[in-house]
Amino acid sequence: MSKWATNTSEVRDNGFGASRNGKTIEGAVLHHGAGTNVLNYVANANSRDSHPTYHVSDSGRVTGIVHPDRRPFSTSHSVDSVAVTFEIDNESTGGNWPVSAEALSAVIDVIVDHARQGGYKVIGKNTPGKDQPGLFFVAWHQQYVQTACPGPYVIGKIDSIIEEANKRLNNTTTPVSGQEEADMLINIKGKVNARRGGLYFVSGGKATFLGGPVPAGVPLLSDESQIKALQARVTGLA
Ligand SMILES: [Zn+2]
Repeated sequence: MSKWATNTSEVRDNGFGASRNGKTIEGAVLHHGAGTNVLNYVANANSRDSHPTYHVSDSGRVTGIVHPDRRPFSTSHSVDSVAVTFEIDNESTGGNWPVSAEALSAVIDVIVDHARQGGYKVIGKNTPGKDQPGLFFVAWHQQYVQTACPGPYVIGKIDSIIEEANKRLNNTTTPVSGQEEADMLINIKGKVNARRGGLYFVSGGKATFLGGPVPAGVPLLSDESQIKALQARVTGLA
């Protein structure tokens, strides 16, 4: 059972979409509206049968369209059965099809909310045709269908969207001295016969090996003195 993301302001679910046929949400697909206000279009019957999970306005206002328990109709591809989808209003039409920072920030909050609901610790870029277990994927329309959607501006922001989403997901703030280590992702260099290199999730002062692709924004830790200092605070990195 999925829930609307907590930053959803309004729900206009008119029963569009379909069953997920038992599948669960594994990621998100981004679309742009190709217009500055497509809320009424996607909330109501339309000629393209375009009904995303969420519409996001230029001001960052999030409206629920197809309940996340159901499959949205956005991408004309089966990826929709395992994704929440977005139609993001453009700031202006044409050119590189810009969207506002407020809209992207709201999209990131929704992505993080659904990654949390699914128990995911890592958000990463989608690779079509490749199974990426343990990773909540961020995809965009053009990865599946020949289309300009979601436009050069949003496509150019994918890496920074993923970087910020991981920050929010793992709340990578510097811990106050004396408190427990905050939840974070680390990518650490391995050491022969000693330390297993790769991606770890650190929570409550304990590191758990995740492996797999390293999301954007997680730097490789290779300085031995830094690693030693981290090993003193975190168990599971020996
Ligand atoms: Zn699209």
